[in-house]
Amino acid sequence: MTDIPPDHPRYESLLAREKVAAGVKMGFTSIQGLIAQGRGESFDYLLGERSTESALYAERAAVAALLLAENPVISVNGNVAALAPEKVVALADLTGAKIEVNLFHRTETRMHLIIEQLKACGASEVLGKNPDASLDLSHDRRLVESRGIYSADVVLVPLEDGDRCEKLVEMEKIVITIDLNPLSRTSRMATISIVDNLTRALGNMAKFAGEMRKERKDELVNLITSYDNKKVLSEAISEIQEHLKNLAAEVEY
Ligand code: ATP
Repeated sequence: MTDIPPDHPRYESLLAREKVAAGVKMGFTSIQGLIAQGRGESFDYLLGERSTESALYAERAAVAALLLAENPVISVNGNVAALAPEKVVALADLTGAKIEVNLFHRTETRMHLIIEQLKACGASEVLGKNPDASLDLSHDRRLVESRGIYSADVVLVPLEDGDRCEKLVEMEKIVITIDLNPLSRTSRMATISIVDNLTRALGNMAKFAGEMRKERKDELVNLITSYDNKKVLSEAISEIQEHLKNLAAEVEY
């Protein structure tokens, strides 16, 4: 990986780009993952590269759902494994969630490399290698484990494609997504749509999980029952508009 000087004004963004590129070179991120990262970066620019109020609200609701779940599962793909494997493991530990690898461009080598990467970050068990159940999809993301994603009541699917998100919602699961694009099919389908950068979102969620797991159960239930995902998506779009208006005003003077 190229060394990025920490005082570079675009340090975080360049570091993330290096990590995804390194994931491709090491064989666990697909080449298409570079395009997905680029699309994410452009939406992050529009948002002002910050966790907005609506994102923080969705992140708290998501953590409440994970803490209350009977069988929470975090689904991991090649981009997530490249960008934030240690954050996935930390969040899984704090919420009691299982981790399952699920890939669109699935090969046995990629599955193995990602599982090893997560284990190197401290995961004791990673599901996904021995699928014994199937979602109603025509691509490899259908391959899941019965004690993981298939039976999960709450599933966190960061950087998801719209197809699988739709199927998981149809199965009446609480589906939490992390996607910088508030207009994507995924964001519009999910139960809880977090419009934030994966790295920031997982960091915030681990912090909230540490605090919220001491809270009373009814307080967590309240957070979920009062949660309004349509409002979150519309606010995310307004936050982009507001940010762009401010930038336009700066350019004028
Ligand atoms: P959909 O079917 O939901 O419309 P898509 O085809 O737009 O999905 P994909 O290429 O399947 O998108 O997935 C990439 C999505 O993940 C994009 O919407 C992109 O904005 C988002 N994304 C990529 N990198 C990040 C990141 N680091 N953090 C958050 N979101 C990201």
